[in-house]
Amino acid sequence: MDDRLDLKEENNSGHLDLYEKLQSGEKVKCLQCNNGYYVTDAKDIRKSYYFYCDKCGEFIHFEPGVIIE
Ligand SMILES: [Zn+2]
Repeated sequence: MDDRLDLKEENNSGHLDLYEKLQSGEKVKCLQCNNGYYVTDAKDIRKSYYFYCDKCGEFIHFEPGVIIE
């Protein structure tokens, strides 16, 4: 069960790179179904913190602030 927590943290940090790509407008294939692409309803994609797969509906989000350097 502790392992599960560790995995979650790794996934979060791994997603940061993913969000950078998404927010720059790059098409990223869904990690879940490997078939659809992540899309967002936000008007400004660079300010969107929520994306979902247009095929399976896999939903991802991240906390604003963590990417500030
Ligand atoms: Zn999908």
